[in-house]
Amino acid sequence: MDRAEALRALEEERERGVAALAGAADLESLEAARTAVMGRKSRFGELQRSLGSMAEEDRRSVGAVANEVREVLQAAAAERLSALRAVAEEALLAADHLDLSLPGHRPRRGSLHPITLAEYEIVDIFTSLGFRVAEGPEIEDDWHNFQALNIPPDHPARTMKDSLYVDVPGHPELLLRTETSAVQIRTMQSQPPPVYVVAPGRVYRRETPDPTHSPVFHQVEGLAVDEGITFGDMKGVLETVAKALFGEERRVRLGPAYFPFVEPGAELGVSCFACDGAGCRICGDGWIELLGCGMVHPTVLENCGYDSERYTGFAFGIGSDRVALLRYGIPDIRMLFDGDVRFLSQWGATP
Ligand SMILES: [Zn+2]
Repeated sequence: MDRAEALRALEEERERGVAALAGAADLESLEAARTAVMGRKSRFGELQRSLGSMAEEDRRSVGAVANEVREVLQAAAAERLSALRAVAEEALLAADHLDLSLPGHRPRRGSLHPITLAEYEIVDIFTSLGFRVAEGPEIEDDWHNFQALNIPPDHPARTMKDSLYVDVPGHPELLLRTETSAVQIRTMQSQPPPVYVVAPGRVYRRETPDPTHSPVFHQVEGLAVDEGITFGDMKGVLETVAKALFGEERRVRLGPAYFPFVEPGAELGVSCFACDGAGCRICGDGWIELLGCGMVHPTVLENCGYDSERYTGFAFGIGSDRVALLRYGIPDIRMLFDGDVRFLSQWGATP
């Protein structure tokens, strides 16, 4: 091969090689093109080897061109390689793409039940007055639930609140508590006076469900026992609570009522928050009967080992469900226990 022929061939290889390398569609075909263009068995490889058989002078000038062509081809291969790598990386990123602007999956959100809201509100008012929260078991024995509260076995009050007894072998007198008053007994048994507690919780009676009755309902009961506690103290505390719940402008009234564990017993009414005492669909005669209360019966104090000559006290019980019904204008107590999310969504639960 003479010099002119070799230079022409190198020129052809430069053009053909650059085109082949630049046209490689992916990393694999680039490698194949590199072998075809610059490999030992390529035409360019042959041309390089043929330099050895050329005259010294030709070899030098043709060699210089060959080096130049090799550099051009190597540069073309490197350029194509980095371009293909960029494309591959972009494809990977696209496959992995996370679009933060897309709307997310909104988690279902729960909320506090209206009874819980009412209970928290009532308890908050009492704790701000210095009462502390006491809790007890929902399954009680006969002594704590009835006898200690001055309700002996033959007392007619036991038929007033037909109870739900629990069938536990060896414990014939266990029942679902009919009031949280048993917590008052347990508290007095566990500590000397003074006592200022409220006992929020769930209670049970054998009731047929209707718009105003449910076999399960909720109470916040309270007890204050100290030296020198009077009926006036009770009225003052309960009036403060009624106003905190239903508005500063509310008036209260006390009427006589009978509960075996208090003497005297009373019912506290609050002037209607909707009609202010004029009479309406909510209240009827202008007053809402809010709670039962009274001065703790001396027998109850003695049952718990308190000196009833030295200590006096008052007790009361507010229905948390009743407060929730009034506060939120709910027409039927059964709605509180249906678990219907469409109803509960009014307090923030996601339907
Ligand atoms: Zn009214």
